[in-house]
Amino acid sequence: MVQRLSRSMLKTLRDDPADAETASHKLLVRAGYVRRSSAGIWTWLPLGKKVLENVSRVVREEMDAIGGQEVLLPALLPREPYEASGRWEEYGDLLFRLKDRKGGDYLLGPTHEEIFTLVVKDQCTSYKDLPVILYQIQTKYRDEARPRSGVLRGREFQMKDSYSFDSSDEGLVESYRLHREAYTKIFQRLGLDYRIVSAVSGAMGGSASEEFLAPAAAGEDTFVDCPACDYAANTEAVTVPVPEVERVEHPPVELLDTPDTPTIETLAEHLGVPRSATLKNLLVKVDGKITAVGVPGDREVDLGKLGEHLAPAEVELVTAEDFADRPDLVRGYVGPQGLAGTALRYIADPRIAAGTSWVTGANEEGKHARNVVCGRDFEVDQYLDVVVVEEGDPCPRCGAGLKIDRAIEIGHIFQLGRKYADAFQLDVLGREGKPVRVTMGSYGIGVSRAVAALAEQTADDKGLCWPREIAPADVHVVAAGKAAQTELALEVGEKLHSAGVRVLVDDRAGVSPGVKFTDAELIGIPTILVAGRRAAEGIVELKDRRTGAREELPVAEAITRLA
Ligand code: ATP
Ligand code: MG
Ligand code: MG
Ligand code: MG
Repeated sequence: MVQRLSRSMLKTLRDDPADAETASHKLLVRAGYVRRSSAGIWTWLPLGKKVLENVSRVVREEMDAIGGQEVLLPALLPREPYEASGRWEEYGDLLFRLKDRKGGDYLLGPTHEEIFTLVVKDQCTSYKDLPVILYQIQTKYRDEARPRSGVLRGREFQMKDSYSFDSSDEGLVESYRLHREAYTKIFQRLGLDYRIVSAVSGAMGGSASEEFLAPAAAGEDTFVDCPACDYAANTEAVTVPVPEVERVEHPPVELLDTPDTPTIETLAEHLGVPRSATLKNLLVKVDGKITAVGVPGDREVDLGKLGEHLAPAEVELVTAEDFADRPDLVRGYVGPQGLAGTALRYIADPRIAAGTSWVTGANEEGKHARNVVCGRDFEVDQYLDVVVVEEGDPCPRCGAGLKIDRAIEIGHIFQLGRKYADAFQLDVLGREGKPVRVTMGSYGIGVSRAVAALAEQTADDKGLCWPREIAPADVHVVAAGKAAQTELALEVGEKLHSAGVRVLVDDRAGVSPGVKFTDAELIGIPTILVAGRRAAEGIVELKDRRTGAREELPVAEAITRLA
């Protein structure tokens, strides 16, 4: 049936939602694709669900093309497997944990390595049963610290996650290559501009890993790109050596006692400095615990918790200089927005002091620091390397000046190796009749995030502007308002529909043509067909949503063109 707006639930908004910062957040809400249910949790309305399904379909087709088999695992999972892998603890606050009526511990799956390993352990017994690629498109749960930017970062979101199981290392390399190719096709078909960059493996574990990043100002990742060779890496994974920090003079650390989480105001007042002062070498004690060092100058910040990891006695007498001699205690973290955690070792670095760009680091397990707080997201003493990269720094491969850009992580592929197979003793019977430990890969695509990433990259000042493959319809037919125009619009709609074209007809009565045109541009279907001024002559207008190019032509011709 032709989709008619007069019979559809669609409410567009003239104004941006008050809390929205990114284009995709504003536009997806205003155009009636999604509605916020609670923080980081979203309802997909009819238009949004269509787009989400279109992305899922492309993902599915390309996963099937590499021999992936679709399954659906539960999202509600028991604690034990995650205990066995160590991730029940490792995930920290990110994990949604809950109890059943008998007091048993459960979690809502943030990613499913453990459970897939168990499925394969149950189903595959011989090397002949491998390789296997399993995937699902499923709701994932992560209690993100800052769920913002709309569906770009949800606490509940859609992910395609797949897992490869091989009985040899070469097999894993091949499964990884297949995924890399499938991802390339998927993102090309979706119409996303993307880069493949070296990445760190993070909580997933394992060795080789690459990310698919969609360059966009709204992105929370930063990557370096070499204009001269093919080197590209997430700044978390940049392999330039830690620069020697040049020591400069700085005042001793001051200690402030406060019962509350201090804000920049309370700090400024206490210290008798203007609110705009850069409060660097400063420790704050909350309830007897040191909680933070260094605050950016002009913003209100939650100073985070360094607390538990440093006994107050250890730090009460120190100056920043003393800290410099205790790199085992604190090795530093500085976020892109300023000093978010503790950076005493690097506080004297003139580049950081000037507030330039950003600093990232990685601990032993490859856990990375960006927007993280030392001591909360990291054990302070685990913190190993700090990497400072700036625009123009030499490319580690060819020496040319690096470019730096922001991007949205849309996909991530990992060669996990045997981490999970070891945790669950996943063996198959090998060629020689002996058990062989299985090796795994894991591969994710943010399906709901891809919708927002597309919106970010393609929207213009009038609204959304979808690539055809992903758009909720091919043609948006606007009936300007008079009876004859509506009649013609519905007739065109029916004909296009019969020809297999996905149409949406705006036949709403009592809505002005101006509002209809504005809505059509906001909604962003690639072709707009208007039954307007010359409807009586059987002439309609075709408008390309992206270029704005218009053309008047007879109905029959328009239909042939679009069908
Ligand atoms: P991020 O760095 O953005 O937090 P991640 O590295 O934690 O993402 P992965 O564990 O690699 O995410 O998950 C695979 C994919 O799932 C990501 O590449 C991303 O596209 C998507 N994804 C992860 N977290 C979210 C989220 N909170 N909301 C929407 N999509 C997400
Ligand atoms: Mg994450
Ligand atoms: Mg990431
Ligand atoms: Mg990732």
